Amino acid sequence: MNSERRTVMVIGGGIAGLTAARDLADYDLNIHLVEKELFLGGHAITYNCKATDECRQCDACTVEKILKYVLEHPNITVHLGSQVVDISGGAPYTLTVEQAPLFASDEEQSILAQNYASCPVPDGIRKGTSANHIPFYAVNPAKISELKESMGSSGLNLDQQFSRQTLNADSVILASGFAPFNAEVKTTYGYGRLPNVATGLDMEVLKKETGHYVRPSDQRAPQKVAFIQCVGSRNEQLGHLWCSHVCCPYALRMAEVMKSQNPETQISVYYMDIQNIGKESPLFYNQCKQDLEFIRTIPVDIYAGDDDRLLVSTMNDDDGSLTSQEHDLVVLSVGIMPGRDNRALAQLLDLDLNQDDFFHVQNELDTTTTQRPGVFLAGTTIGPKSISESIAHAGLAVREAAKYLGVSK
Ligand SMILES: Cc1cc2nc3c(=O)[nH]c(=O)nc-3n(C[C@H](O)[C@H](O)[C@H](O)COP(=O)(O)OP(=O)(O)OC[C@H]3O[C@@H](n4cnc5c(N)ncnc54)[C@H](O)[C@@H]3O)c2cc1C
Ligand code: SF4
Ligand code: SF4
Repeated sequence: MNSERRTVMVIGGGIAGLTAARDLADYDLNIHLVEKELFLGGHAITYNCKATDECRQCDACTVEKILKYVLEHPNITVHLGSQVVDISGGAPYTLTVEQAPLFASDEEQSILAQNYASCPVPDGIRKGTSANHIPFYAVNPAKISELKESMGSSGLNLDQQFSRQTLNADSVILASGFAPFNAEVKTTYGYGRLPNVATGLDMEVLKKETGHYVRPSDQRAPQKVAFIQCVGSRNEQLGHLWCSHVCCPYALRMAEVMKSQNPETQISVYYMDIQNIGKESPLFYNQCKQDLEFIRTIPVDIYAGDDDRLLVSTMNDDDGSLTSQEHDLVVLSVGIMPGRDNRALAQLLDLDLNQDDFFHVQNELDTTTTQRPGVFLAGTTIGPKSISESIAHAGLAVREAAKYLGVSK
């Protein structure tokens, strides 16, 4: 890293943060990319290609391409397992970054790989994708004390401490992303209790691991699948009035992949409106209408049936009567919620949140600058966005940061 160049800190290594880091590094700036998790790529790195007979423009492959570029760029220093815990000064800012132990040596990685499948601590060891798709294993910092009990004799030194360093930055891009809706909150759907009720994200992780969209309980191809739309979004009771924008397209693309995997699979989509699919690709939507059953209602309950099957219960709007259909897999199309760290980050960086807890934007024409000089917003920090929209928004943030730093007009 060249000490004469100006420096930008990018907080968050999802697609928005990766794009910002890549584009700013190309302006010949030094970049510190600070990612809280032990892997880069954010949510989108877990998504699978949705091509069937043709590309479905899901953009999952774009993330891998940008990630590879970032990892190879000499101007970018990546800080994994790291969080900003203090910021002082005006621009340039002085930021304290705390880093969890990474367990990255070959020996540590081999111990983690051996213990990954059999680890008794849920989410204790995580598996992620590194450059060139070699699996990378990581200890979940929040589970270290539980792991000490179960892995005490494994040879892994779990007494390693968190470390701190102080870094200066002329500008900060906040790209800390979103949180998927926690489906356990919608208790009538039995998520976490009924093994074959899964979220769209769970299905992506399962496909990464098994190569197919399978039933979680027995890893077999499902025969009768239900997708339930708007889980967590457009919900007055929860106070989440927004449309999450991405869950109709992702659910329909996933349903079409399941259908092409196994044309006998019957798939029903329970929905209120289908958003953002017809406009982008009317031909694709027409194809979906032929292949899938669309049922315009949102189910009220899901009950356990025989053999881990599920009864999806819906209410007739006219007479209030309940009917149910049996499925062997239910996919909950969970939406985009404010990032879990939004309140803490807003306080730390002295930024405002809007009434929904996303970061406040100045106005519709200026969605990246903040009241704090040199601090910019990118991606889903400000609300629901697809991958391509997050990339475009990060591009706007980069343009503003580059102007602010005087490296562009
Ligand atoms: C189930 C599901 C499927 C989807 N499928 C598609 C699809 O097929 N195509 C599509 O275009 N879009 C899809 N989307 C939307 C897509 O996930 C988002 O557009 C994209 O991930 C947004 O990127 P981001 O960088 O803004 O946020 P994120 O992906 O959330 O990345 C933010 C990063 O910041 C890190 N971070 C958070 N807090 C901190 C902190 N305090 N310090 C440091 N780092 C922090 C996080 O760990 C994360 O790595 C889908 C969304 C969902 C929920
Ligand atoms: S955009 Fe999506 S569907 Fe198309 S090739 Fe890339 S990953 Fe596959
Ligand atoms: S994109 Fe579709 S599923 Fe998601 S909130 Fe909007 S209407 Fe509901």
